[in-house]
Amino acid sequence: MAEGHAVHGIAGRLRQFVGQPVRSCSPNGEFAAEVFDRRVVADAQAVGKHLLVSAVGVELTAHLHLAMDGAVSVRRHTRALDGDFPRTEPPVHGNVSWRLLSATHLGELTDPAVCELLDGDGVLALRARLGPDPLRADAEPDLARRRIQASRRPVGALLIDQKVIAGIGNVYRAELLHRARLDPFTPGRDIDDDTFGALWQDAVDLMTLGLGARWIVTDEAQMVAAREVLVRGERVPRWPKRYAVYGWAGRPCPVCGTTVQAQRMGLQRMFWCPACQGVGSPARAGEVEGHTMALPSVWPEPTRR
Ligand SMILES: [Zn+2]
Repeated sequence: MAEGHAVHGIAGRLRQFVGQPVRSCSPNGEFAAEVFDRRVVADAQAVGKHLLVSAVGVELTAHLHLAMDGAVSVRRHTRALDGDFPRTEPPVHGNVSWRLLSATHLGELTDPAVCELLDGDGVLALRARLGPDPLRADAEPDLARRRIQASRRPVGALLIDQKVIAGIGNVYRAELLHRARLDPFTPGRDIDDDTFGALWQDAVDLMTLGLGARWIVTDEAQMVAAREVLVRGERVPRWPKRYAVYGWAGRPCPVCGTTVQAQRMGLQRMFWCPACQGVGSPARAGEVEGHTMALPSVWPEPTRR
């Protein structure tokens, strides 16, 4: 499933249409796309893993959720124009629920889990059932802090609960907790303000970098390199993924060498290092600082989920 940084990336690509009149249709007939036809797109934004698209003069908002199989493509076209719109429609390939066509771009949504129209109350209800999103400027992290500290559930389960924080998925959950040297089984109510504040800030930093890089970067050396590439205005290459624990069950933790564990927590497997992330562990006490294990030069792709 796409984590929040990827959904924000899609919203950014959909903003190619903002300010543009569009032809809007639903090739597979599953979406009432005609309400946007010949309208000007007003906004495309992400809230956690949800997308909201609105148009000038249209009271309804399109709500999209991609879940496991959904995808959005936005690409430039060079079709001849007749007024504001291309004279001909490109052929449809695949199970396209929604197609947007402007003078310059073609956008297509395929296989979404949700593609519906919401009225104003529906948008407010959606926003209300989602926790703050680390990638949104209007996020109120205190809301997430209060929800975590009011819960006996393990922090590993709370971090991917979209009602607590919107946008964090299984990879960021595992890597954030390992970076914080935090036991994923710690009850939410035992997370103090400072620990929460550091987790939130790391989520903001990692997901912002993920949005820029277009993939999840959590390894310190790769983070430095990715930021240098982004500062130059270039595209971050897809280097081999160097997760510390995610997908690495049964392999040594890159920090301390202890075997990484995995266990189902919520709907997905949680990966963690019992030494780095155990109560009173040497790594937690800072004793392994300076003893980082040599990392293999070639990293295999981690197993999924
Ligand atoms: Zn470790």
